[in-house]
Order: sequence, then structure tokens, then C-alpha cells
Amino acid sequence: MIASVQHGDHSYQIDLSKPLDISIALKHGKTSVNAWHQPSPSIHPVSEGDFIGSVAEGAPINFNEVVFNPHSHVTHTECLGHITEEVFSVNEKLKTYFTWAEVVSVTPEKVGEDLVVSSAGLKTARKYQGASALIVRTLPNTETKRIMDYSHKNPPYLSKEAMEYIVAEGIEHLLVDLPSVDKEKDEGKLEAHKTFWCVSQSPRTSATITEFVFVPDTIVDGLYWLNLQVAPFENDAAPSRPVLFKPMEI
Ligand SMILES: [Zn+2]
Repeated sequence: MIASVQHGDHSYQIDLSKPLDISIALKHGKTSVNAWHQPSPSIHPVSEGDFIGSVAEGAPINFNEVVFNPHSHVTHTECLGHITEEVFSVNEKLKTYFTWAEVVSVTPEKVGEDLVVSSAGLKTARKYQGASALIVRTLPNTETKRIMDYSHKNPPYLSKEAMEYIVAEGIEHLLVDLPSVDKEKDEGKLEAHKTFWCVSQSPRTSATITEFVFVPDTIVDGLYWLNLQVAPFENDAAPSRPVLFKPMEI
């Protein structure tokens, strides 16, 4: 199925039968991605008395319970409710599901012990104007990002200046292949999160951050049509499946 979409003065076609899924799936146990010092997620049959919710164990159905943390174990999208006392639900705040997105590859810069995505790195990588979503693929890009346990590993993060640039560029939806936009151990400063959502000035209530995407190398940098939706959880964050479509100019 072919759809037509506009971007400024340009017209594109997208083939809806060719989705490019950039989510990381939640899996049982240690093969799942992990961060924030949490136990591995668990997918296990409900057990009540004689009943074990597994066809292999004699039940008529498989009936699994899933125990996980959206921030730790899966691609997830979060809203400003992640850092505010006031409760905001991403399921309430993310209400449009399609937008233009630019994929950029950036090599984080070494700053002391840290690896930091800088505003200069983003500016150099960006080629398009007018996309309201930005997808940051950090280099090197390896398949281990799908199974990595980032706890206590001080993964790369975005500088405050990088976030100021992102906000100034009108980016409403930021997607990163990292566990967080902030430094793992920053004593709760959360400079990048706070800057992105402008919490102390005029909060950007419909802006979202998606963490733990994985952008395979087969997806080259450039402009894409993005479908971003969350599982309907009333929570600051929820599992999400960002899907890209390659536009063909007509
Ligand atoms: Zn998160």
C-alpha cells in the first residue's frame, strides 16, 4: 500500500508494506536490555493452586505474567511526567502518531570519563529542516545494544547544550539508542531532561523522549516518516514501537 505525504514543498510516497522497526523487544531474563540496576524482566506462567498457565504444563492456554520496568527493559517513550511532581501520563500526552523524523549518526565526544553527544556533533550530522522528530544513533553502532546491561557503565549521554539546540530547532520527539539522555550518575541533576521539557519556564507537555531504540546500519541517515505509539499505560513512560518508512520523492 502506497501513501502520499507532504514535507514543505516536497511530495513523497511511502510504502506502508515496508516498515523499519527500530524498537528493542522485551525478553525474559538476561537476554533483555537492562539499565538502572534492576533485576532482569520476567515472563512466566501464572501459578495458582494446581493451575499453571502453560499449555506445556497441561493448561488450555498460555497465561503469562510479565514483570518489567519500562525505563529499564524495553524501548519506551516518556513525557515530562518522568521528572515532575505533577502526574503526567505519556498515554495522555502523545496524541499524534505520525511525523517527519531525521535519523542522524553521531560519535559521542570524550569529556573526562564521559562520552557526550554535543550540540556541535548534532549540528554537523543534521541535513534536514522541518522534521519534528530527531533520532540519534550513537557510534559505534553494534547489535549488542539490543541486549546490553548498562547498569554502572556510565553510558553516553547528551549535553545540556545539545538539548538547548534540539529545543531551539523545534524537535518535539527525541529518540535515542541510549538508556537515558542524562548521565547515569548525576546526583539527580537531570539537566538534559529538564532542558528538553523546559520544566522551569513553559513546560513542553506534548514533547516526548524515547529511549532504547536500535537503528540498524541498514537504515541510513536521512529523512523518514515516523509512526510512534505507546502501549496504553497511564504512566510517565510506556513501552513503544517506533516505526520508520523511507520516503520516495515524487
Ligand atoms: Zn526512560
